[in-house]
Amino acid sequence: MTVKEELDLVCIDSRHGGCAGEVMYRESTSGTRATAPRCDQHHAMAMERAEKRTRRCR
Ligand SMILES: [Zn+2]
Repeated sequence: MTVKEELDLVCIDSRHGGCAGEVMYRESTSGTRATAPRCDQHHAMAMERAEKRTRRCR
């Protein structure tokens, strides 16, 4: 077993698979101030989803 030297962050969407890039704490895209660890890939997807949601509201 290899122990990572960096903080052991796990993407909150990792169970869905498809993680890519760096996992770090990112602000929630849903307008709340909560932060959650997400990889680059899932953060991009979340941003996209949030953008569509915002457009639909207008
Ligand atoms: Zn991920």
